[in-house]
Amino acid sequence: MKPKSSIPALKPYQPGKGMEEVKKEHNLSRIVKLASNENLYGCSPYVSDKLKEFGENAQFYPDGYALTLREKLSSFLSVEMDKIIFGSGSDEIVQMICRTYLEKGTNTVMATPTFPQYRHHATVEGAEVREIELENGFHNLTKMSEAIDENTRVVWLCTPNNPTGNYIKEEDLISFIQTCPKHVLLVIDEAYYEFVVAKDYPDSIALHKEHENIIVLRTFSKAYGLAGFRVGYGVGNEEVVRNLNTIRGPFNVTSIGQYAALHALDDQAFIEKVKQFNVQTRKKLEAFCAANNLTFYESETNFLLIHLPKSGLDVSNTLLTYGFIVRPGELLGIPNSIRVTIGKEEDMEEFQEALKKSLV
Ligand SMILES: *Cc1c(COP(=O)(O)O)cnc(C)c1O
Repeated sequence: MKPKSSIPALKPYQPGKGMEEVKKEHNLSRIVKLASNENLYGCSPYVSDKLKEFGENAQFYPDGYALTLREKLSSFLSVEMDKIIFGSGSDEIVQMICRTYLEKGTNTVMATPTFPQYRHHATVEGAEVREIELENGFHNLTKMSEAIDENTRVVWLCTPNNPTGNYIKEEDLISFIQTCPKHVLLVIDEAYYEFVVAKDYPDSIALHKEHENIIVLRTFSKAYGLAGFRVGYGVGNEEVVRNLNTIRGPFNVTSIGQYAALHALDDQAFIEKVKQFNVQTRKKLEAFCAANNLTFYESETNFLLIHLPKSGLDVSNTLLTYGFIVRPGELLGIPNSIRVTIGKEEDMEEFQEALKKSLV
């Protein structure tokens, strides 16, 4: 059987090693996964309690409009209900954007390295992918601007950027928006929004209200600690959202996902706490790196990209033997580095010891 022409050159997503697999392989009783930027504090205890009250009702399809969650999010963000689109994770919205706006003969502009799903789905749709090297971990907005032409349909800004962790400053984003032609959909992926403390981080939802061509993506997978439920959302103008809705699967967000996200929005104190813990623990990891002559990219997220004097693959493999799973930079386009999710303080102390031993 012959798949469409863009498929054979692509590979299925390769997940990191599973926890059980690593446990067995290295005969460990406990392992700490610091590979996928999940929230190691879990979700809010309030959400856990509410989940116990979730009735079964598994025979019914979910609300395809996600009305209750939509109402709550609409008032939480102060945006009209019809400017919101939900996805099975923001991953699915990336896919919907590519399916809606890209095809052969069009192109799309993004940084590299960045979140790999933009490139992946754009390639599936047959679009030309124009990748602009990061500059010291930052998006090179000047070069990205220059890469845009009349066939550009979508530009991706990942801020803070995965896997480097740094963000686009407000004034830089505003000048980029001003140079970006109106026919181009500007995707601002803010998967790590809730972790950001920088004062000059832009208010992209406000910017979207002034610029019709912006869609902002956020998720319940990271700071909210609900990755397993798969809920993400986009905020864009009604026409963009209407077009995306045309290709959206009618029941793409599960009932329990909608329910968990709804209650998660009610516990902002939890998010605030996670944010504070994350900054404190990240600072300690940064201090450890500095004390051990390891450089890293400035991060506004719950992960740190650490440069190493040797292969990130080797170091990750050694770390596995101590029970820590991290992402080797070789798989992210930054050789001789590892991307480490900021976990709980006590785990990170152990991690630092293990990293020290892995470097000798
Ligand atoms: C994790 C991540 C996402 C996807 O998260 P979902 O779980 O699909 O909501 C999107 N963009 C970036 C940059 C991410 O790191």
